[in-house]
Amino acid sequence: MADIQQTDCKQAPGLMRPVIDRNRCEGKKECVAVCPYNVFTMATVEPELRRGLTLRGKLKGFAHRWQQAFASNADACHACGLCVAACPEKAITLTRA
Ligand code: SF4
Repeated sequence: MADIQQTDCKQAPGLMRPVIDRNRCEGKKECVAVCPYNVFTMATVEPELRRGLTLRGKLKGFAHRWQQAFASNADACHACGLCVAACPEKAITLTRA
């Protein structure tokens, strides 16, 4: 992949934030690797979050040991869209903060 410079990002931080679809994320960490602002961390999906998943989401979560990405530093998002493009599960969308 080509080097991405931070100046490629388009928005000031805090205007947009990534939202992760818990039914889609398979914890492949592409977003962690690609985000220039360290927005994402990996963590275990807590039981109360698991309850709201679809059957397919629960099966996926179980298969991947409930490890998923979380936008733990969402306020740093510059809305460059790299994570949206990189996610192989199409689990990330950007929304207004
Ligand atoms: S759009 Fe994604 S990759 Fe870009 S700064 Fe925001 S969270 Fe990071």
